[in-house]
Amino acid sequence: MPVTVIVGEQRGDEGKGRFADMLADEHDIVARFNGGANAGHTVVLPDGRDFALHLLPSGIAHPHAVNVIGNGTVVDPIKLNIEIADASEKGVDIDEGNLMISSAAHLILPHHISLDELREVGSAKQGTTKSGIAPVYADKAMRSGVRMEVINNDIDRLVNIVASKIEETNEQRCAAGLDVIDVNEVTDRYITNAVLLGRFTTDTALYLNRRLKQGDRVLAEGAQAFLLDIDHGMYDAVTSSSTTVGGVMTGLGVSHQHIDRVIGVSKAVQSHVGGGPFATEITDEGVLERLHGRLDQVDSETGTTTGRKRRLGHLDLAAIKRAQMTNGTGEMVLTKLDWVSRYGETVLICTGYERKGKSLEVSPDAAYKIQQSTPQYTELPTWQQDISAIRDFGDLPPEAQRYVEFIEETVDVPVTMIGVGPRRDQVIVRT
Ligand code: GDP
Repeated sequence: MPVTVIVGEQRGDEGKGRFADMLADEHDIVARFNGGANAGHTVVLPDGRDFALHLLPSGIAHPHAVNVIGNGTVVDPIKLNIEIADASEKGVDIDEGNLMISSAAHLILPHHISLDELREVGSAKQGTTKSGIAPVYADKAMRSGVRMEVINNDIDRLVNIVASKIEETNEQRCAAGLDVIDVNEVTDRYITNAVLLGRFTTDTALYLNRRLKQGDRVLAEGAQAFLLDIDHGMYDAVTSSSTTVGGVMTGLGVSHQHIDRVIGVSKAVQSHVGGGPFATEITDEGVLERLHGRLDQVDSETGTTTGRKRRLGHLDLAAIKRAQMTNGTGEMVLTKLDWVSRYGETVLICTGYERKGKSLEVSPDAAYKIQQSTPQYTELPTWQQDISAIRDFGDLPPEAQRYVEFIEETVDVPVTMIGVGPRRDQVIVRT
């Protein structure tokens, strides 16, 4: 059974991208099933240069892999073309042979971005990346969206929609005191970019299923993470798409029968970007400074897309248990084990919550309940040794081994791979 799923099981930025990049070696196709360019994966190329991917799947730097942007995603043509150009500048050439975009993926139009901007200046402000993601998914649900298929099928319709929607949003912008958008200039630029993507657009569900029938292997790559899932996350501090295994089936058009491996990625440093409850959040400035790291380093705790400093906290296994329950996670990947000593001589791990006098082993299902909960911690000793060159689990300091084993025992899912540094080779694979 040939589909492997890789998903984030915390609040995003777990390091899914570099593991998806590593797993791409063993798969023929890497397919993104949800979200837009609001997330950011960082992969480090063999020559040491780092490479930020926002919508392009993580197989893009692998010559053997076909990359699919599935129907569950949303596409901003301008941003995607910038990403494609950036990749080619780094020596990664992209054409119809290694990139396909679903004709059913929805297009983020200029007015979607404007609607996000308008929301951010108003009282319903949510601290979004202003990428137009929520408005485009809202249009999809309203059945008034425009899909990639329009590019090859009816470009005049796209021109009309783009221009008329900008005119509409300009009225709202005037009322809100925002600059108006130049209709002709923005429409021209948008259409020029959309047309460039026409050659990649195809029926990716059919393509994927044909390849699966031939025995080829697909890596389904999720963006964002469990707690940001539109249904299962801490609504309303969530994203607008399905970030769980369920999103693979709807977002790629492949059956559950093909899925044989679900890998959940969690990071030893719990991080979060944006608003929302964070029960294990750390406020101690000294600890935060160590955990944020040097901002010029690839593995610092700042957003890949936003550059914002992430909120940081203690590892929350109660929340991870909920993610693993919903995803049916069979294997856990733990990243940033090399950062655990930054917490201090000991590290706290949240193993459950207490809410209204009751103990909870699994974190609650709503943001307000998380807010009312007190995390229950176990304290473990850390280690001071640099572990970034270690490749065998048995060579880790005993405290580091105990830390990993404690996690496995608590969540009852094996930790099969461990990140000990941001580079591709800085991984312990347990057999
Ligand atoms: P993604 O969106 O889940 O792919 O995660 P990001 O790429 O945004 O964030 C993960 C960050 O952690 C990146 O800066 C990676 O380079 C870094 N990273 C991932 N795994 C490790 C690890 O094991 N150790 C260290 N030090 N950094 C890591």
